[in-house]
Formats: sequence, C-alpha cells, structure tokens
Amino acid sequence: MGVFSHTGLLRPNNEDAYCHCQLSSMNLLVVADGMGGHKAGEVASQLAIDRIKEYFEEHLLEAFDVQELLAQALLFANRGIYEQAADNLEFAGMGTTVTAALVKGKKAYLAHIGDSRAYLYRHGELFRLTADHNLVQQMLSNGEITEDEAYRHPQRNLLLNAMGTASKCEIDEDMVELQEGDLLLLCTDGLTSMLTDDELLVILQENLNPEQLAVRLVDAANDRGGQDNTTVIAALVTAEGQEVGM
Ligand code: CA
Repeated sequence: MGVFSHTGLLRPNNEDAYCHCQLSSMNLLVVADGMGGHKAGEVASQLAIDRIKEYFEEHLLEAFDVQELLAQALLFANRGIYEQAADNLEFAGMGTTVTAALVKGKKAYLAHIGDSRAYLYRHGELFRLTADHNLVQQMLSNGEITEDEAYRHPQRNLLLNAMGTASKCEIDEDMVELQEGDLLLLCTDGLTSMLTDDELLVILQENLNPEQLAVRLVDAANDRGGQDNTTVIAALVTAEGQEVGM
C-alpha cells in the first residue's frame, strides 16, 4: 500500500483527507477533497473520513451486506457535515468529495460522490471505475465537448454533486472483482487535473511498487504545476487470496 498527500505548489493548505485501515477481514480506502472558505474545506474532508470510520466501527459486526454498510457510512458522514455547516456560519456551504473502496477478499466495493476518482490498473491497462459528478463530465457524456476539451475546460472544478452540501446526497455504488496483481488507485483531482489518463498509464507502466508509485504520481502532478492538493492511495492486490498488500 502506498499513500501520499501533498499540498501542491500554489495552495496554502491541504484540503484533502484520506484513510486506509483494516477492519476485521476488510480494508477500507478513502480519499476526500474538501471545499469551502477559510478552513471549511479541511474540516469537511476530515469530518467525512472520521464519520465514515466511526460508522464502520459501530456497525461492522452487525453488517451482512458490505455494499450497503459502505453506502450507509457515507450517508452518515453526509449528515454530519451538513449539520455542522448548518450550525456554524463559518462552515456554511462546506462540502467534500468522497471516493471509497472497501476491499473484502477478491471484491472491491466502491462508493463515490464528487470528482475524486478510483482506477483499476490491470495487465498494463488503466480503467476508470468512477464517473466525475461535474459539469464537464455531463457535457462530455452529452457529446458537447471532447475528452481533450474536458481536460482543459475552465469550469472543470464545478461539481454537480458533493457530500455535505444538502441533507441527502446521491452516491454511486459499484463492485469490482479483483485479480492478483491488480492495482487499485484512489486519487483527488489534484492528480487528474494535472495529468491525463494516458499520462497516468505511462507512469503506471513503470511498474513501481505502491509506495514508490504514490510518491511518483504526486511528484508528477507537482512537476506540472501542482495547482491543487494531490492525494494518491495505491493498493496492490496480493496473492494471499485476500485484500490489498499493506
Ligand atoms: Ca481538489
């Protein structure tokens, strides 16, 4: 497992938050990218991580449907951020992206909101596992702009869906069957606004170990200008028949 989070070269603080933890026989990986004035972005992303972990700690033993458990954890986090924002003027309107993967055996359960991303790298190919909840992705899906125009679009930061900005949030859910040697990659848009998928692929094909890879990807984003905070979690699926390498 490799994890690296960096403020970047232009921002004064790091509004990204993340966690990777082992829960019983499962591994939970989460990245969150907060937004809001002053310190609100940092508060929102860290609150999301804390609330998701809290929910798992309280409900893990009673859960039989882990996909549902993951979704409920995100809804619990959404309520926490929304209530904190409603109660506190300095946090008004704060929100965060959340991209989470719960790895159990050879399955990865995904829950996602916003424009952070999960990728799967397998046999030299890179697959995007999440869809960005932003205006640019919508325009791309409608055929109004090309992939290249999307990457350079001035409004690419405009989110259509975030955690904590409303009393309820819509969560994308998915499940992926993993194979030994797969690499799961979770990242915030500090990475993907600086590097295209093709450029990520070139770096992945260097076959670095996960620790080196996380640092290498963040360095590459900073070499491009590091305009945003960048967080990367890289997890290798190991041969032991379970989970990701720690
Ligand atoms: Ca960001």
